[in-house]
Amino acid sequence: MTFRDVPKVELHTHLEGAAPPAFIRQLAQEKNIRLDGIFDESGGYVFENFQQFLDAYDAACEPLKTTEDFYRLTMAVLEETASHGVIYMESFVSPDYCGGGDVVKWRDYVAAMAQAATDGEKAFGITLKGIATCIRHRGPEASKSDSLCAAETAGDFITGFGMAGAEMMHQPSDFAYAFDQAREAGLSLTCHAGEWGGPDRIRETLDVLKVNRLGHGIRAIDDLDLVRRIVEEDIVLEVCPGSNVILKAVDGWDSHPIAKLRDLGVKVTFSTDDPPFFHTTMTAECEGMHRTFGWDKDDFIAMGKTAIDAAYCDADTRSRIRKQLESA
Ligand SMILES: [Zn+2]
Repeated sequence: MTFRDVPKVELHTHLEGAAPPAFIRQLAQEKNIRLDGIFDESGGYVFENFQQFLDAYDAACEPLKTTEDFYRLTMAVLEETASHGVIYMESFVSPDYCGGGDVVKWRDYVAAMAQAATDGEKAFGITLKGIATCIRHRGPEASKSDSLCAAETAGDFITGFGMAGAEMMHQPSDFAYAFDQAREAGLSLTCHAGEWGGPDRIRETLDVLKVNRLGHGIRAIDDLDLVRRIVEEDIVLEVCPGSNVILKAVDGWDSHPIAKLRDLGVKVTFSTDDPPFFHTTMTAECEGMHRTFGWDKDDFIAMGKTAIDAAYCDADTRSRIRKQLESA
């Protein structure tokens, strides 16, 4: 069975992490950059643990330098994602990779990606919004310049602020300044938490960073009081089952807590995170959940509605995408 044609909404992707490997290889070739050791024989990315994944990610970003590179990257990602039925997506984009946290340079990258979002929407029928993102393992100081970049470009394309990177480094409260600065600029807030960290880290993230979505959030299942809080406060989880399986954040599909969380009333959505790294697509995510939990088209449409209701977009976009889901 394929779920390729079911219209989908994807909230949790990393733009560079979604880059098709063929695109990165092509770009590296054009620039005479050697990328040794990050591709396997079939041309996919190769790594064995989370740290190696972060290293391979950084290496794959090496050829991505200019605003034109980011325009092409965005178009390549939109084409690939739309081919799996995704009609609306949000992607984390980091000022660290786009001008090193400098606001003036960042503006040019945002303009290039926003132009690609406009062109990609016309070409492939998919809407893209950007969530400017700080990288936790680069530390609290870098997060301040990232959120300043985010605040300065808040608008039609950059609609949110978030944090990715190695979850166990630093404390969530170390990043309060960055999240406050982004909130004051009117940006919506999400943060990776509860992928590797336990309930306490999720709780601190909600208390101090005041986000309304959590990247992953699956370890909430270890604490039913926290699950109740997440339900009561209407926090939405950006769950990435295929990513969790490949990175061994869970033992396998059978033990993935997405079904239990959904049964307990948590608003769960599903995404691919860094699809080529995790050998996944939005179609493959549906197939995995169908195989494991028996979920079907109606479940995926319902989760798509949950996702668009929690999307960081304007009211017109929300109602347009909702209609597309309802008529599927
Ligand atoms: Zn992620």
